[in-house]
Amino acid sequence: MEKRADIAIVGAGILGLAHAHAAARRGHRVVVFERGLQATGASIRNFGLIWPIGQTHGEMHQLALCSRAQWLEILRDADLPYWPEGSLHVVYRPDEAAVAQEFAEIGPGLGYDVAWLNQHQVLERSSAVQRSGLIGGLWSPAEITVDPRVALPTLPKYLGERFGVEVRFGCPVQTVNPPFFEAGGERWAADHVIICSGDDFESLYPQTYAAAGLTRVKLQMLRTSPQPRGWRLGPALAAGLTLRFYPSFTVCTTLPALKERIARDAPEYEQWGIHGLVSQTAQEELTLGDSHEYGLAIDVFNKEEVDQLIIRYISGFLRAPVMTINQRWFGVYAKHPEKPYLSLEPEPGVRIVTSPGGAGMTLSFGVAGETIRSLSL
Ligand SMILES: Cc1cc2nc3c(=O)[nH]c(=O)nc-3n(C[C@H](O)[C@H](O)[C@H](O)COP(=O)(O)OP(=O)(O)OC[C@H]3O[C@@H](n4cnc5c(N)ncnc54)[C@H](O)[C@@H]3O)c2cc1C
Repeated sequence: MEKRADIAIVGAGILGLAHAHAAARRGHRVVVFERGLQATGASIRNFGLIWPIGQTHGEMHQLALCSRAQWLEILRDADLPYWPEGSLHVVYRPDEAAVAQEFAEIGPGLGYDVAWLNQHQVLERSSAVQRSGLIGGLWSPAEITVDPRVALPTLPKYLGERFGVEVRFGCPVQTVNPPFFEAGGERWAADHVIICSGDDFESLYPQTYAAAGLTRVKLQMLRTSPQPRGWRLGPALAAGLTLRFYPSFTVCTTLPALKERIARDAPEYEQWGIHGLVSQTAQEELTLGDSHEYGLAIDVFNKEEVDQLIIRYISGFLRAPVMTINQRWFGVYAKHPEKPYLSLEPEPGVRIVTSPGGAGMTLSFGVAGETIRSLSL
């Protein structure tokens, strides 16, 4: 006799856990199957930034805000560390200031709570910003930092205790033939199987993934040693290169000139898709990144040149007591070239939810709510 769940979820990354939360809080019996002994995918390797300011205005920005609201509820309920300190995009060049100022002007009309700060106001808000050459910055209070290395291991326990979710680690889902599936050598049945397997496009429904046109993105990341006790990053930091990265800023008429200048004067930053983000961790370290290499085949070796470019760029705007690099790693996420994420139905009773790209921490709880609402339960 097979084992049973109402909803079975493949993958205990943030997208799988968010789906478990959305389904279980509506009263369904949920089992999550994770092939690893712990989550080791994109969700534990990221900055932990809940970053609504990066989402395109309208539907995606609203989804990010909805996700953010759920994060806050869970972070408080699970007693997880988090920093609701907003974000600052600091600018040092006139063309960067033009984009930040334009977004500060038009953003509020599009639903973003943003403001332009002059040099003095930026330095009042953050003691971690380099003063020399600073023109000002784009301030947004909406962004939250969580520590993924604390959150990802804690959430399965929290979901179990609070909502009765069972998370089975070391339990790969090998085949799905709805309503049945095989996981960890056992036969199961579920009304719905939701596959959140990150950048694994090959194990389950490989033809569906292949037809979807997904790719992989590799990001190099670094972490400093702990900062002295009492020193605070304050708002998460980004700078001029980030303005060309998130789709939200494409509404700015001043953006093409900035992009042209970067492509012309800093081709190495263009080549490796580098921008500079800084977030803090529960251990008072700073997480620094990142780069973007696109393609299905991932280079498993990091490039020192890329790390050096990231450090050089971030050192231009971050003023932190400790810049010693203590850890380096890379992460990989799935991405669709146009869509912010994919929800596919390879056959009745099965959903694949994947590729929230570089915004999976930001969007997961919102996306999960949409999936569960759309199922006929
Ligand atoms: C370096 C880096 C920095 C980032 N920074 C941010 C950020 O600050 N803010 C933000 O919003 N987003 C960020 N992102 C993006 C975000 O991390 C991803 O979008 C998100 O983590 C994807 O979550 P996921 O659950 O889909 O995938 P994953 O976290 O990769 O989880 C997928 C899981 O499925 C499991 N699995 C796969 N196949 C099976 C199977 N057959 N059976 C059982 N288990 C299976 C895997 O073992 C894995 O644990 C970043 C990404 C990276 C790589």
